[in-house]
Amino acid sequence: MADDQPKPPSGPDLRAGVKFDALTEGEPFSGHFDEEPVVLVRQGQDVFAIGAVCTHYSGPLAEGLVADGTIRCPWHHARFDLRTGEATGAPALNPVSCFNVVRDNDMVKLDGKKTPDFRVTCSPNPSSVAIVGAGAAGAACADLLRAKGYSGPITLAGDEEPGPVDRPNLSKDFLAGTAGEDWIPLRTREYYESIHVDLVTGDPATRIAPDEHRISLRSGRTIDYGALLLATGAEPRSLRIEGADLPHVYRLRTLADSKAIIAKAEGARSCAVIGSGFIGLEVAASLRNRGLAVSVISEDPVPLSRILGPELGKFVQDLHEQHGVRFFMEAKPSAIHADRVEIGDGKSVEADLVIVGVGVSPRTSLAEAAGIKVENGVIVDENLRTSTADVFAAGDIARFPEIVSGEPARIEHWVVAERHGQAVARSMLGIGGAYRETPFFWSQHYDVTIAYVGHAASWDTCEIKGDLDKHDACAIYRRNGKTLAVATIGRDLLSLRVEAAMERGDAAELDSILRKVD
Ligand code: FAD
Ligand code: NAP
Repeated sequence: MADDQPKPPSGPDLRAGVKFDALTEGEPFSGHFDEEPVVLVRQGQDVFAIGAVCTHYSGPLAEGLVADGTIRCPWHHARFDLRTGEATGAPALNPVSCFNVVRDNDMVKLDGKKTPDFRVTCSPNPSSVAIVGAGAAGAACADLLRAKGYSGPITLAGDEEPGPVDRPNLSKDFLAGTAGEDWIPLRTREYYESIHVDLVTGDPATRIAPDEHRISLRSGRTIDYGALLLATGAEPRSLRIEGADLPHVYRLRTLADSKAIIAKAEGARSCAVIGSGFIGLEVAASLRNRGLAVSVISEDPVPLSRILGPELGKFVQDLHEQHGVRFFMEAKPSAIHADRVEIGDGKSVEADLVIVGVGVSPRTSLAEAAGIKVENGVIVDENLRTSTADVFAAGDIARFPEIVSGEPARIEHWVVAERHGQAVARSMLGIGGAYRETPFFWSQHYDVTIAYVGHAASWDTCEIKGDLDKHDACAIYRRNGKTLAVATIGRDLLSLRVEAAMERGDAAELDSILRKVD
């Protein structure tokens, strides 16, 4: 995202104001206040004014969607409350500014900033909160608990340094060398000190005792909890072939993994990526950017086809081939040597660096040992509660009632994990309803970003509209006529509109939106 710089302030100076009639109902209008970009939104006779730059990756909110009292960022679907600027939906964790709007006859003007209070009266109010896993879900939960005014003790217990990281960046700009390490921490240790969250790193939880409401850490420390969130994420799978444990063979999950790959890549000439899923392809793009010769080895006929289907998968493969990546598809790696990977039939692929990206397994052993119900993930209800009292689960480990497909699902995506974490915070404080977020992820390959909303574990039709070659297209995944998911390239507003319709469960609106798409 290093190229995606915010645009300079556009539109009128809103101290001087703008005519009310110049504003269109529900359409973002760009202006600025003392050089700060602002977006105005008219809703009936009311006008709201909030900061126009998304606090996640600086996306342009004025190009986003106004829906249900919020504005949503076109880049990664962060959501802000129009009345207060509160970040109500990840991936943004910080609010945007909120301005005081005054009406002066037919003019709308801003006369300063407001300082909204997002805190609520909490009931129930757990005596303390322990969070096991300082990743996407854990960090988002801790943040929202404090933002909502929870004042009890919070422990965020992780085993990864330096604390919560922007994990998606580890395979993208950071690995490509276009973002520095300062981009990576999601929050700093000082930040946690300032909000009185006890961040533990390098001391993993080893036991949960639900009857005693207590967790134990490896060091012997114990922490009592009123409410517990389990958010232990997932562990990359290993390959069980000869040479898989050689020192030039890496997996990628943590900042330490990404830094180790970068260090090795500096002296390497060729890289073999085993697996053609998200990690495999994003790593391929990033290491091409570092000038390595990159080969992808996969048992699949087409990359990413299990998630995106063969048409979009082939499009992504072509894109990578245009950037010099070589693909060895329907090939089974059988052994790794210091300078090559054997792929059968006497063939081998040259590589002095090997990255294994063959999927992940949810880290559910703590939950299982504590007697919490686990079946392909920790089973949770619509409030993210597990089978055990006062224990919640979120993120990669949680198998939750997914609203779009109407089936239980375990989804391994960043925004889903963060929104789970936020939903758990609300559930713990008794201020949330059932979890009704539309799953969303993005995947970046060179200058092309694929945005995906919904959840289609399988589908019977995949309709492509638009022109993939022009990077202006969408794929609609349906089962038995029901739209389960939509992937878009170059159509961010469509992705947001589909997401909002799915969130409302409005099948008629969804069909109407998609019928009008060329
Ligand atoms: P995590 O973020 O993995 O956090 C879990 C934390 O728990 C970890 O720090 C782990 O060390 C810790 N932990 C585990 N066991 C214990 C224990 N016993 N005690 C204490 N701590 C423990 N998704 C997208 O949607 N878009 C992307 O572009 C994208 N890019 C990605 C790039 C990479 C390189 C990777 C690895 C993943 C990417 N993902 C992406 C997936 C996304 O990062 C995950 O779905 C998300 O991080 C899951 O959040 P989580 O909180 O469940 O787990
Ligand atoms: P993934 O996306 O699930 O892809 C795994 C790939 O490895 C698939 O091609 C899979 O083939 C293949 N595979 C599975 N078992 C194999 C084996 N034994 N030998 C060889 N190939 C095998 O997982 P990932 O790419 O490793 O990514 C790890 C996690 O990070 C996932 O949770 C992923 O969602 C997440 N991630 C997400 C993004 C994003 O959303 N942009 C980016 C990076 C990472 P089949 O499909 O045939 O099973």
